[in-house]
Order: sequence, then structure tokens, then C-alpha cells
Amino acid sequence: MSGYVEFMSLLKLIIFFFLAQTCFAAQPLHYAAVPGGVVKVPLHINTSKTPHVFYNQKPVMVTKEKKTWFAIVGLPLSARVGEHTVTIKKPLKKEIKFTIKNKDYPVQRLTIKNKRKVNPNPDDQKRIARESSEINTLLSHFTNRHFTQAHFIKPVEGPTSSPFGLKRFFNKQPRSPHSGLDIAAPMHTPIKAASDGVVIATGNYFFSGNAVFIDHGFGLVTLYCHMNKILVHTGDKIKQGDIIGKVGKTGRVTGPHLHWGVSLNQVRVDPALFINL
Ligand code: ZN
Repeated sequence: MSGYVEFMSLLKLIIFFFLAQTCFAAQPLHYAAVPGGVVKVPLHINTSKTPHVFYNQKPVMVTKEKKTWFAIVGLPLSARVGEHTVTIKKPLKKEIKFTIKNKDYPVQRLTIKNKRKVNPNPDDQKRIARESSEINTLLSHFTNRHFTQAHFIKPVEGPTSSPFGLKRFFNKQPRSPHSGLDIAAPMHTPIKAASDGVVIATGNYFFSGNAVFIDHGFGLVTLYCHMNKILVHTGDKIKQGDIIGKVGKTGRVTGPHLHWGVSLNQVRVDPALFINL
């Protein structure tokens, strides 16, 4: 009996140390200090309190691994190559430099049958402006906690039809670069949540079609677009792998697929960094 108790105590101790050592969360599997990438910056501070760190005045994710703090920073596609700074504001003030390297993203040319999705009319433009500010507000959600310790899973099985960052031309006209990862899948394929979190919005958007936004904490938000059907509601607590909707072709699309977006510190980053493709 005492042997069993000792064994259980030892097991608890092992689990405790395992959790203490792996206090990381839904952060990338891969890092890339390039525009559209994510960089892991060692903060070289020793504090038990979670530090408050900023990049471009926006709060950024932090994580502690083996007593060392790191900032996990999303880099915008528009970031210039060269030296950048993260700023620690609490519990002490400190600036830390890091370098962004160049990455050339390829060009993609698409033909959209619905011409209004390429050249929106004045009413559409008002709607687009309203939705764009709504989406920016959603992506600015920041809570000082992680919802999970698991890495992301791929929300839909299928080939990549368009990678992140492509410089895009719709019907020969230049448009914003591709802000997510497109996974080709048949209509009605179930879409899984990439990780634990809370649904912060669902809705129908001019470009994104039927979309779901999930907050994973620390400024990490995933979005799932062009759905045929949405199966969750704002405020729902979600576990990794929960079915949140079905693949469709709503919004600006050439065919059924999932456009999966990942936003970190209000910056769209490459979802491929978070999974094994
Ligand atoms: Zn897309």
C-alpha cells in the first residue's frame, strides 16, 4: 500500500515538473524572422510576474520556458527589413532589438466571376469599411492568459490551394496580399477548431463570407472563412478539434475551400508556422 502511495506521489511530482517545464502554449511550431512570420525574442529578465511587452505599441504574447521569458511576436507583411524593437513596460522598462530578414512571396493571378467582389459598388464599399474596422477590433482582443498548452491542429484535411503572403491580382487588378492559408476541401467538410479558445464573433462578411473568430489568449486569434454553415455562437468555449462549421464558398472565392487566418498581436501571420503541413 505504502509502495502505491509513494508511486502516486512520485507520479504527481513528475507531472508537476513536466507542466512547469512546458509552460508554453498555442505558439508556433516554427519561427521565421521575416515579414508575415513570427519571431521568438528572449527577454533576459528574471521575474515571477508575467512581463508586459509591446511591439509597434501593441501588446504581445509572452511565454516562460525553463525560467526564461520570451516574447512571441507576429511580424506584419509590410514590415521593413532590418532592426526592430520590442519594449518591456512592466515589471521593468527595457528595450530589446531583433532583426527582420527579407522574404519574397510569389505572385498569384485569380479570376473571379462575381465582378462586384473585385470592384465593389459604393454600398459594398461602405459595408467593407464597416467590416474592416469590426475585424480590426476583434483581432485586438488581448487577454493575459493562454487557453491551452497544445500546439495547433490543421482545421481541415486537404491540400494547400494558396499559401500565405501571395501578392494577388484579381481579374488582373492588384489587391491586398493573401492574409491566410487556403485549404482545398469539398463542400460541407467539417472544420475543426485549431486549438482551445472562445468564439468572439461569427458573421457574414463581404470578402470572408460566413466566418468564425476564435480567441486563444495573449493576442492570438484564428479565423475561419467562406463557410457554408456556422455551427458555433459568440461566447462558446471551444476545445481543440471541436467542429465549428462546414466548408463552403461564401464571400470572394473561386471555389469551395477554407481560408484559415492566424492573427498575433493584431498582425496576420503565416498559419503554416503553427502546424506541420
Ligand atoms: Zn484565402
